[in-house]
Amino acid sequence: MAFETIKIPSASVGNQAHIHLHRFGPKGVKGVKKVYIQAGLHADEHPGLLVAQHLLRHLEQLDQQNALKAEIVLVPFANPVGLRQKTFGHLVGRCDWHTGRNFNRHMAIDPQQVEASLAPSFGSDAIENDRLMRLGLKHLVAQRHDDFEINSLHKILLSQSIDAHYVFDLHCDDVALPHVFYGLHQQEMGQTLAQCLGFTICLEEDVTGTVAFDGTHTQPWVNMQNHHAQPVFSTPCFAATLELRGRSDVDPKLAEQDCLGILDFLAHEHLIERIPSPKKPIALKPCRVDQVRTVKATASGIITYRSKLGETLKAGGAFADLVLVDHPKAKSIPILAPCNGYLFSQTGQFFITKGDTVAMLSTQEQHIQAGTQLAF
Ligand SMILES: [Zn+2]
Repeated sequence: MAFETIKIPSASVGNQAHIHLHRFGPKGVKGVKKVYIQAGLHADEHPGLLVAQHLLRHLEQLDQQNALKAEIVLVPFANPVGLRQKTFGHLVGRCDWHTGRNFNRHMAIDPQQVEASLAPSFGSDAIENDRLMRLGLKHLVAQRHDDFEINSLHKILLSQSIDAHYVFDLHCDDVALPHVFYGLHQQEMGQTLAQCLGFTICLEEDVTGTVAFDGTHTQPWVNMQNHHAQPVFSTPCFAATLELRGRSDVDPKLAEQDCLGILDFLAHEHLIERIPSPKKPIALKPCRVDQVRTVKATASGIITYRSKLGETLKAGGAFADLVLVDHPKAKSIPILAPCNGYLFSQTGQFFITKGDTVAMLSTQEQHIQAGTQLAF
């Protein structure tokens, strides 16, 4: 067990933030895998911060029992820069104040740089190729610019995570059922994770285009493999974003449940020795990210919902109402489902503005270009 404090170089003066890092299990032993877990990269999403504390307690015990077969790195608050954005009583935390950038976007390693610097290294030994890829990616992260504070933050987080075999990024939605994002190329492992967590909704992405923290870890492996006719790697990185329901779902029972779900998956992957919690398989609802239909408000006003999360909506059916507060007479308009779909996310706002996302439906048809993110 080790505990580290890592300082984040500040772009300003007298204002230095830091992250904490807990390291469990064997470190740097040949053949030992690495697991990286972080919470709160979007600093306004707090269920993950609580889950991280539950993990901390369990991992300490498991380490003392010598039950950890992998190195496990836990960053319990990944974004102290966002956490200090308390503004007139409200924590903002999603985008960087200095650059305006979303904390969970645009940190990907340039595919051309990966190709140019690493492609010639690989031979016929898949395990050696894995080692060279991890070493190469770590080197590319170390060479990054860290001018703005957000870039320093990304560089520090990636320097700890980019060589991991498993990456878990803990987030939440606004008001939502729990769901998990992972790469379409790792469907089987992603669905196993969803089963361990008991999360029905599996959002599978092709990791092209703009990626978030999870895709930043899988995209280079997919791109590199796509350049070769034969399988190049033995154990590429598996990465997932866990959306731990909605912003208000900060609850010790749920946090323990999610923590045990993550530990069950690690046990399934033989990374820890632990008897999984008994559970029945659930019927998953896998859907490609480009098959998610976001519904946007066409006017501004107060929203109320007729349908609850988990209901299957029919195309043309009214699932919510928008009360137009600026109409000369009292008036509300129904919000219609644009297609058939399973309602898994709503807004937590009451007053909404034209263009705001008011619902997300998982469907079986493509609605957006592959490689497009669902939220800004
Ligand atoms: Zn988030």
